[in-house]
Amino acid sequence: MTNELSPLEFDQKHLWHPYTNVTKPGPTFVVKEAEGVHITLDDDTRLIDGMSSWWCMMHGHRNAEITAAIHEQLDRLPHVMFGGLTHDPAIDLGRKLLEITPESLTRIFYCDSGSVSVEVAMKMAVQYQHAMGFAGRSEFATIRSGYHGDTWKAMSVCDPDTGMHHLFQGALSVQHFVSRPPIRYGQDWSDVSSENGLAELREVLEAGRDKIAAFILEPVVQGTGGMYFYHPEYLNQVRHLCDELGILLIFDEIATGFGRTGALFATDLTTIEPDIICLGKGLTGGHISFATTLTNDRVAEGIGGGTPGIFMHGPTYMANPLACVAAKAALDLLTGQDWAARVQALSKQMEQELAPARNFANVADVRVLGAIGVIEMTHQVSADAAHARTRDLGVFLRPFGKNIYTMPPYITSEDELSQITAGMLLLAQEL
Ligand SMILES: *Cc1c(COP(=O)(O)O)cnc(C)c1O
Repeated sequence: MTNELSPLEFDQKHLWHPYTNVTKPGPTFVVKEAEGVHITLDDDTRLIDGMSSWWCMMHGHRNAEITAAIHEQLDRLPHVMFGGLTHDPAIDLGRKLLEITPESLTRIFYCDSGSVSVEVAMKMAVQYQHAMGFAGRSEFATIRSGYHGDTWKAMSVCDPDTGMHHLFQGALSVQHFVSRPPIRYGQDWSDVSSENGLAELREVLEAGRDKIAAFILEPVVQGTGGMYFYHPEYLNQVRHLCDELGILLIFDEIATGFGRTGALFATDLTTIEPDIICLGKGLTGGHISFATTLTNDRVAEGIGGGTPGIFMHGPTYMANPLACVAAKAALDLLTGQDWAARVQALSKQMEQELAPARNFANVADVRVLGAIGVIEMTHQVSADAAHARTRDLGVFLRPFGKNIYTMPPYITSEDELSQITAGMLLLAQEL
């Protein structure tokens, strides 16, 4: 009977969407095509993608350079296993990554998605600690309101409340949580450890030092867990504390990487480097699922020098050539332009145009960092309610929690960005 259903009816009956109830489908648009900042629906309505399609489509949809790179690679070598074989796309991308990422990170693991890159990072930490003779160190510490993905180990370090840990009680590894860094980005740093969050952190890390393999967090910007921006000095201090206690430091830059915060990597806002970094989302400019985990010589040599020496991970589509060339093209596009000026311009305009929301009833906070603009409401905002309005606004926005936010594509024009911010202001008044 399924062939009697319209495409949308089929979708609503049979296809699961992210974080939804498959038996009670939410409102959904059918997308016909997309180009630049625009998504075109089946009835030819064009919407500006104010979400960069979950933060990855930074150079716009169907970017000419990225699609050309994929087309060319498709005719040559769409895929080959990476065990015992290698290829130029993986090598060229590797060279590019080493050029732009923090200097101490020299060993690259390619994988399929952000969540997997977090799994890989956590596995590296545990294998390193075991190789160093600390077999007991297999747990993780993190800050609350974080988000690191939906696979089991990644989920265990997501915020226990918004990550709905109660749903999975008994199935999730118990980890060590501390409060999110209390000093916000742009506020004055305080050296008083009870005020800057470091007293609590020291206490938790010292108590767990024999059990904790690594401290994992999103540097400077917590994304999905609340769009919260905190002081980079926290991370400098965390580095010292981790070194003192023999705990590795993992930065999840899946959302913050590639210029989103105004720095190429949020790590660049600090004076330190992590032991392991996760990159994803914008890596291919949103054209193909791909991610990578980079680590330093110390961790790589630690794992390599231990028993069994091999690192126990190897996805089927590891270093997929199509994804590698897409990523190389996306990174060339990024670094081939004055991306910092571009992000700065978006930032300034959002700052000006979102400011009026500060005076709205029910608005708790308005904040902008790099190409991230947030109106935080005092109450939960319904993505479905916002959905119903986006068609009229000409802008696709999908709020979550209390936040109405945008992460515009970097190619968004001044007029298009004004349309996005106007849409956000309207939603903030209506929802
Ligand atoms: C999106 C995200 C992930 C998960 O990436 P997927 O590709 O969705 O698996 C992990 N960490 C952070 C910080 C993210 O924003």
